[in-house]
Amino acid sequence: MVRITGGTVYDPANGVDGLVQNIYIGPDGRIAYIGPDGRSVADAQGSGVRTIDATGMLVFPGGVDVHTHVAGGALNFARGLVPENQRIARKFLHSPELRAGIGGLTPTTFATGYLYAGMGWTTVNEAAVPILSAKHTHEELHDIPIVDKSTLLLMANNELMLDLLEAGEFEQAKSLVGWLLWSSKTFGIKAVNPGGVAAWKWGKNANQLHQPIEGYTSITAAQIITGLARIVDELGLPHPMHLHQNNLGVPGNVASTIETMNMLQGHRAHLAHLQFHAYGGHDWGTMKSEAPAVAAEFLTHKNLTCDVGAVLFGDAVTITADGPWQHLLYELTGRKWGNLDVENETGCGIVPYVYSDHKIVNAVQWAVGLELLLLIDDPWRVYLTTDHPNGGGFWRYPEIIRLLMDVEFRKGEVRKLPPEAQNRITLGEIDRQYTYADVAIVTSAGPARALGLTQKGHLGVGADGDITIYSATPDAEGVMFSYPRYVLKGGQVVVEEGQVRAISEGREFIVHPAFDPGIEEFIRPSFQKVYTMSFENYPTEMTRLRHPHVVPCSR
Ligand SMILES: [Zn+2]
Repeated sequence: MVRITGGTVYDPANGVDGLVQNIYIGPDGRIAYIGPDGRSVADAQGSGVRTIDATGMLVFPGGVDVHTHVAGGALNFARGLVPENQRIARKFLHSPELRAGIGGLTPTTFATGYLYAGMGWTTVNEAAVPILSAKHTHEELHDIPIVDKSTLLLMANNELMLDLLEAGEFEQAKSLVGWLLWSSKTFGIKAVNPGGVAAWKWGKNANQLHQPIEGYTSITAAQIITGLARIVDELGLPHPMHLHQNNLGVPGNVASTIETMNMLQGHRAHLAHLQFHAYGGHDWGTMKSEAPAVAAEFLTHKNLTCDVGAVLFGDAVTITADGPWQHLLYELTGRKWGNLDVENETGCGIVPYVYSDHKIVNAVQWAVGLELLLLIDDPWRVYLTTDHPNGGGFWRYPEIIRLLMDVEFRKGEVRKLPPEAQNRITLGEIDRQYTYADVAIVTSAGPARALGLTQKGHLGVGADGDITIYSATPDAEGVMFSYPRYVLKGGQVVVEEGQVRAISEGREFIVHPAFDPGIEEFIRPSFQKVYTMSFENYPTEMTRLRHPHVVPCSR
């Protein structure tokens, strides 16, 4: 039980914009009272009630990361591929109570939890889980302390699903997706380069939205996208289809990005790392920002949300199920490359990368992420991510917040870019500055709403007691957002004065959609033919999750 008194509260979901409020978190870890009345908070006496005097401090809902990569086989693959990165990692553990960890761009499990909580983020969405490695992913997620987690199941290249969609068996495909979600104990559906990863097993891609996928007779990327979006809607999943579009990272991809938005009319969808999908030009020599066109189009599609996948200059490791893109990146950079084909489900590619402020392409990418965050002037539909660790480590979010809040600082950074890059972006002409309320929306309230997690991202009565409290340090947003004074998770003070003070085990959000159990008779025989694993070993047992929490579907 905790009282927080006198803090200046930013809770945009409840219309609170910089009001001094008192908060009481009850014994169940949820917010029991918030308001100006100090009396009901003061009355909450008794043993074990801690009071935090937040006078002069800023109180935000705990951060929610809508798209990150923190657990599972791909992360371990990356850790193995870039050992030099972990060897130069800075030391960040402060106390003997903490478990061991290694930093670097793919921190190990315990370190990941400490770093997220230390920054004030209390919920993370692991955005890419193959069914075949779901068990291992859940084991790792359990070892990420403090934060609550959800997971997205990779689906747009699953060959059982593609076979059913191609055969026009929509109801069966829907049952298959429902069965796979429950069998993997995941939360939502991720579509990565629809059809392109399946085609990659023949060395091909799916660059055209309306051409049959390699290995199939008729099904197209467009049909996979709209079919999966409809399945997610009809299953009533809390989070819409989470889409990594075709043609990621390619100059001129603005055309397929806008076409994809139009195709999704009538469905909910979340567009992941939109920065990587907002490029003009014909080749790498003419590549330029098309963020203004993408933002303008996006704003007209009220059915869509997005995260930016901003990039920051410096080291990164690109990790994605988009195998063909990773091979192209390897060819472009000549750096190390790893590829995994995950049987008939999905793929995975790893390429370490450095975003250089001297390279025109990287400078344009850096600007595009910020342009989208500023030009999509409906903060409820655009969220802060770096697609960690693809665009940079998640712990660098405060650097982006500073660029959003301080226009003069931002323009100064733009002026440092190569002149040729400055001609290909519009960032230097944008004057918008984020308010504290905008920051609270793009880091917490918006992503929580998009994930369908009704107890996250706000400070209303009944919300989880996930709260981040910052010391107000004017003109130093980067510093302020890097070092929260207090972080509470489920009503427990987990970080204080920059130190992790308590280790809790976060929950895992999963869904149990309705499906026809007869679908097993379709799935089982295919295991004999095309899987290396037996059908009985495939599903993740409920007992493997230590703190599961089933979020209801809307039908
Ligand atoms: Zn991603």
